[in-house]
Amino acid sequence: MDSERSLQSIDEKFGGLLREFLGDKQHEAVLSVLQKIPLGVVDFLSENVIFISDSEYNWAWSLNRSDFSKIGRGIIFLSDEIFRKTKKEMEFTISHEIAHQYLRHKSPIFNMLPEKVTERQEKEADRLAIKWGFRKRT
Ligand SMILES: [Zn+2]
Repeated sequence: MDSERSLQSIDEKFGGLLREFLGDKQHEAVLSVLQKIPLGVVDFLSENVIFISDSEYNWAWSLNRSDFSKIGRGIIFLSDEIFRKTKKEMEFTISHEIAHQYLRHKSPIFNMLPEKVTERQEKEADRLAIKWGFRKRT
């Protein structure tokens, strides 16, 4: 881990957006993953993705169409469920979702993807997360 990559400098890259939709605990977990992945990926994320979590601050809210188009970013949603897992499992899940974004994968929810493509995307995301040093199981 390079010392240049302080938690504060990562937050600054996102211009505060990282804090906006994440609870404290979730923010801390995302930062911990962002410290471990290649800097080029962090830069990509800081310009193209927002992270949203379930948290006491994010109990309920809505965005209308024009708010949504202003965001103009990919979304990674983190449920509270993953924070009940071990740190390793939680970090693997976050890094796997980051990999989907970085690899420009399409969501099977919004696209008619053949099962084969979905499976391939899952494997590719797992493989990249593993390449970054994350492990599914301890
Ligand atoms: Zn996946």
